[in-house]
Amino acid sequence: MKRSLNDYRTIVGDDTIGELYKKARRIYGKTVVHVNSTYYGGGVAEILSGLVPLMNEIGLAAGWRMLRGTPDFFDITKKFHNALQGNALNLSEIKKKLYTQANEDFSTYSHITHDCVIIHDPQPLPLIQFYPRKQPWVWRVHIDLSNPNKELWGFLKDFILKYDVIVISSEAYRLKHTPVEQRIIHPAIDPLSAKNMPLPDKVIAKYLKKFDIPTDKPIITQISRFDKFKDQEGLIDIFRMVREKVDCRLVLCGSSALDDPEAQQYYERTKRKANNFVKDRDVIMITSENNILVNALQRKSDVIVQKSSREGFGLTVTEAMLKEKPVIASRVGGIKIQIKDGENGFLLEPDDKEGFAARIVEVLQKPSLAQSLGRNAGVVAKEKFLITRLLADYLDLLVDLIG
Ligand code: UDP
Repeated sequence: MKRSLNDYRTIVGDDTIGELYKKARRIYGKTVVHVNSTYYGGGVAEILSGLVPLMNEIGLAAGWRMLRGTPDFFDITKKFHNALQGNALNLSEIKKKLYTQANEDFSTYSHITHDCVIIHDPQPLPLIQFYPRKQPWVWRVHIDLSNPNKELWGFLKDFILKYDVIVISSEAYRLKHTPVEQRIIHPAIDPLSAKNMPLPDKVIAKYLKKFDIPTDKPIITQISRFDKFKDQEGLIDIFRMVREKVDCRLVLCGSSALDDPEAQQYYERTKRKANNFVKDRDVIMITSENNILVNALQRKSDVIVQKSSREGFGLTVTEAMLKEKPVIASRVGGIKIQIKDGENGFLLEPDDKEGFAARIVEVLQKPSLAQSLGRNAGVVAKEKFLITRLLADYLDLLVDLIG
């Protein structure tokens, strides 16, 4: 459903919308292309599907293209993704070749004549190598690169140094020893998308029924791709402890992204670990991609957990906060920008499973605590993490580069 900027006036106020139109005046008609590697699943696709139409509406000509890759390519970029977050990697020549080849192939069928190019994440990073330099190129990296695998970093630097600007999600991710201008733009969510728009109780009930999620017990939910960094396995251990104190259900909702070949394996492992709980439907695992289901689940849940051991930003946290839910999450990455421990949610060290369990039990047993955390969370999400603020940040960047 097409949304117009005016639709956001009641949420963010006239001044914010007026300010956006004003910023855009200096770049009317300029052409911008975003390139990433998946249309759905995961945060980047989520952001682009909201942002690109608004960029067009405000007077830019913005496009969105997807890098095509073979399963081998995505296998390698997933390994790179993990290594950039600290994992070991065997960086063979063949891996380097397959990685750059998919990018070179893209350049043989996709013309780039835009005024500015915005490349998202590491998969399409080498594209810059295969086009004549005619315009500013921005690398928008959504993950935490503060501690990358050194060998891989050395290889990627060949490409990175060619960029005009790198956009990171948090001050903590500033790249050391990288002489390229770096800007911070916090990600954001769209309050009017199917995933976040207000839902009538009737619709919530309908979706939970459709996906066979009973509502007779309190619901704890984590919405995340099945991925070891999201640590659904750790959450099963936590759930086991919680269940000793409170009868409740755990819902793990995690469609797999196109560019993630490891997801299926991890899903199976988590399911085996939750064994009897899954049989009794006390742990419910869902793999459908459905925005209204995510919306309904977040709204119906009593507690939202984000047990990640790494998290670039954590849009799922923002989504739950906007819905005024108490979020209990790991003190990692971008989650720290969003949650203030004890004020608008709870933060715990990622390996502190007992701590997670204790906080979950506390929030389940004290509805007034859940309510006040949720209310404060809603205020922060609306003030800082809505798509209108993200659009403003991108307009500022584009005005500086091509205005
Ligand atoms: N998501 C979804 N369905 C799922 C799992 C995730 O729609 O089954 C969405 C989630 O709501 C969020 C995005 O994917 O909008 C995940 O973004 P986040 O920043 O939390 O993590 P990433 O996947 O980018 O690491």
